[in-house]
Amino acid sequence: MIIILQHDIDPNGPEVSQILSYIAQFPEVKTRLSGIRGASRVVSEIYLIGPTHNIPQDVIQSMPGVEKVIRVSSKYRQIGKHGGQLDELGFEYNGITFNQNSFHIFMGPCAVDTPENVETMMKHMKEYGITTARMGAYKPRTSPYDFQGHGKKCLPWVFEMAGRYGIKVIAMEVLKEEHIEEIDSALQEAGNPTGVMLQIGTRNAQNFELLKAVGSQDTYPVLYKRGMGLTLEESLNACEYIASEGNRNIVFCLRGVKTRLGDPHRNMVDFAHVPVVKRLTRLPVCIDPTHSVGSKDLAPDGIYEIFHAASQGTVAGANMILVEFHPRPEEALCDGPQALTMQDMEHFIQDMAISRKAYEERRDLASRMAFKNI
Ligand code: PEP
Ligand code: MN
Repeated sequence: MIIILQHDIDPNGPEVSQILSYIAQFPEVKTRLSGIRGASRVVSEIYLIGPTHNIPQDVIQSMPGVEKVIRVSSKYRQIGKHGGQLDELGFEYNGITFNQNSFHIFMGPCAVDTPENVETMMKHMKEYGITTARMGAYKPRTSPYDFQGHGKKCLPWVFEMAGRYGIKVIAMEVLKEEHIEEIDSALQEAGNPTGVMLQIGTRNAQNFELLKAVGSQDTYPVLYKRGMGLTLEESLNACEYIASEGNRNIVFCLRGVKTRLGDPHRNMVDFAHVPVVKRLTRLPVCIDPTHSVGSKDLAPDGIYEIFHAASQGTVAGANMILVEFHPRPEEALCDGPQALTMQDMEHFIQDMAISRKAYEERRDLASRMAFKNI
């Protein structure tokens, strides 16, 4: 059961203590107060965990400070919308708003290599007003002999440079808890010139200890990537581990699933699930067209297949795109063949602006049609 409190209820005020003392009559039920600073409002929720079937919903509903009371299903308790009973969860991080209506492009190399390449990338992003980047410092590679990323060595100069070029948030994959600490110290030592969204890669989608580690801190938001061999339900359950530890500043990323049926693409593009994740969960949804498509092939209409996939997800209402760019893909130490180049940047940004506008028009049309049919 979730008790949604009215606006601006003081967690330490009389309304909350009255509710908590009422719940105390049911000793097997544990309570957890969750203060969510949403993008547009401050909400507080009280989670009741345990056998709540004896608790009369109408009694709590009539208590001062209560907006509504919701009985939740066992699935995705915290990230779920529970059949539309709960609103989305938005959040703000380092001046950037993330919710089910926002739209950001996170671009950059698969793996950080040289300062020259990273600087070229950031210079171009600044020129086009992009303040959200992706940069891999820790790379989980299929072969142990492949480049594993520069690790913590590169963090000081990457963060300092990001600050110089106005990058507000960098999506950066972490493979273990220690990496969060390394990012945290490097950011602090650099004077927090930028922010980091901790990325959970597809290979760690069910690494429950890592999910708990990113979930039990609230300094950094989390970008959770769907497991390449997991059903949507399995991935959403895994993502719930993050929220169940307390951190609900999460973006759910679709990145394609592994099956030979997707050939010649690296993965089967799963962006038809964008509206499904927005319906089932309270989370903003990201798409990763780079790892879904996995090659830089040009379609006969002059549009790269990566652009086509990104557009499909954007037209379906995606809130974020994670896409790989590299100034010299032939020299990239990881995933060069699928990287877009600096020459492609303006084209990509404009193509996504067209796709986003198409989504907004489709959404407005749907609302006009619904109104007309009342
Ligand atoms: C990445 O985004 O750098 C990455 C490795 O993606 P994935 O975990 O989806 O393969
Ligand atoms: Mn990559």
